Amino acid sequence: MSAMRVLVIEDEAALAEGIARGLEGEGFEVSVAHDGLDGFELARAGNFDLIVLDIMLPGMNGYRVCSSLRDAEVWTPILMLTAKSGEYDEAEALDTGADDFLSKPFSFVVLVARLRALARRRTDHNLQPLELGDLTLDIVARTCRRGSTEIPLSPREFALLEALLRRRGHVISKQELLDLVWGEGFEGDPNVVEVYVGYLRRKIDRPFGMSDLETVRGEGYRLGTPDPALR
Ligand code: CA
Repeated sequence: MSAMRVLVIEDEAALAEGIARGLEGEGFEVSVAHDGLDGFELARAGNFDLIVLDIMLPGMNGYRVCSSLRDAEVWTPILMLTAKSGEYDEAEALDTGADDFLSKPFSFVVLVARLRALARRRTDHNLQPLELGDLTLDIVARTCRRGSTEIPLSPREFALLEALLRRRGHVISKQELLDLVWGEGFEGDPNVVEVYVGYLRRKIDRPFGMSDLETVRGEGYRLGTPDPALR
């Protein structure tokens, strides 16, 4: 099993950082968005196993993020963070399509337990295996196969392949991949994307004499032949 990927959408930097560090310590892979719009865009790509969503957010509040994601058919389980101050309405949180809620201040142990429970319960549409020809990525079992050959992937390689497969047939820019796979707060060398594309090619393409994963000069990367029906 690869690490579960959690998106934390929380504008209070210290709290977001605290949650991220704590979850990483529990073996989750964590990305953070500090406003509702960024959070929505990241979440919509569907590359997360779980979302922790604050309600009071700049850009787009948590209720709207949640209902917009569900409207966009993104079914990633969402744990909404609510405040005891009365800012929240728990019924409303559930109405907008959240799966669970937790009021601030919360115990970190409870947060982790709730997330694990949500992960077990998830039955969402984003969990169908992703396929391109004989290449199959099983989102639930966290396995990758080309034909009958199982291909071991690191969590990062898995996330990168998932991002590419979810938008197979169209170009994804290096920046988009950085945001999706490494998180918007990533401050390292952006060439890490090329490095990982190289790793993936050596795993999913070359040993099989394939070249599904293409570099589109000056634009980004594309998995599979262009599909004009896709964005
Ligand atoms: Ca907030």
